[in-house]
Amino acid sequence: MKTQVTYSFVIPFMNEEDVLDALLTRMTDLMSALDGPCEVIFVDDGSRDTGAAIIAAAARRDPRIKLIRLSRNFGHQIAVTAGLNTVCGKAVIIMDADLQDPPEVVHELIAQWKDGYEIVHAQRRTREGETRFKKVSANLYYRVLARLSSVDIPRNVGDFRLVDAKVVKAIRSMPERDRYLRGMFAWVGYRQTIVQFDRPQRLAGETKYPLKKMLRLAMDGVIGFSDAPLRLALWLGMIVSLSAMAYGVYIFAVAFFTDGLVAGWASTIVILSFLSGMNLLISGVIGLYVGRIHNESKERPLYFISESIGVTEVAQMPQPRLVSHG
Ligand code: UDP
Ligand code: MG
Repeated sequence: MKTQVTYSFVIPFMNEEDVLDALLTRMTDLMSALDGPCEVIFVDDGSRDTGAAIIAAAARRDPRIKLIRLSRNFGHQIAVTAGLNTVCGKAVIIMDADLQDPPEVVHELIAQWKDGYEIVHAQRRTREGETRFKKVSANLYYRVLARLSSVDIPRNVGDFRLVDAKVVKAIRSMPERDRYLRGMFAWVGYRQTIVQFDRPQRLAGETKYPLKKMLRLAMDGVIGFSDAPLRLALWLGMIVSLSAMAYGVYIFAVAFFTDGLVAGWASTIVILSFLSGMNLLISGVIGLYVGRIHNESKERPLYFISESIGVTEVAQMPQPRLVSHG
């Protein structure tokens, strides 16, 4: 018999053994303070430590705690997706494992949901213990993304949010491989609102988002939600050809009115290298988009589950049909 779940939590983790005990305590406290039946789906994104064993032990004691283990590290966004595919609550809350998304804020998210909002983003008012570089670059990035993207992606909002079951259904129907969830949640529409919170330091361990992964996620955001980089080619091409035309007029004038037309080695080299640089840049930009098409066209499943505890339902994601197999 299936019990009705009101609140589902999705918590992805990778190598977080130092924080899991504290997290389990805080989550149990939170669940007993809430006004409906709960479940917590922990998604092990290919941890190499004892994290999965800690959660598995807790899951055997408490049926509200559930565990899915992915077959390897697929990345944070895919781990969250795997969790979303198994939840059955009326409201679903996505949180980080390191307690940087404070469980207390969940009460405020739920209050907004009860007021009729289907997506409640938790926005970072301040970020404690993060480097100046991360704060400045994140701020700049969100500004650029807001400019470029066709949907309104709220600034300084990570993956901490509450979404209604309707929204989960919508996200499940989006099979894209390069997943930028905060963009996808903004894109689906519905009634959305923001709750602000002060982001504390990570409880223990270190960030699992090194610069390389952060850049990758940033790229997924820009490329997945904007075609401005592609349009750049058009503008640059136009500016370059207009300058070339102006330069042609100048050369013509020099040749016509003076007799001092010198062999312009320097200008030739400058123009040549400028143009080939431009060509490489634009092919690179196009390559980024083609790479994504390549990735989609393989039509591979997003992830594999190697083991699970307590999970009864797994939603099947639709397969994209880019290539006809007829
Ligand atoms: N995480 C994950 N897979 C990854 C990287 C991160 O499941 O490949 C989890 C991580 O364990 C944490 C959450 O995603 O629960 C956010 O990561 P982190 O706290 O390291 O990011 P930051 O807060 O530093 O941006
Ligand atoms: Mg963190």
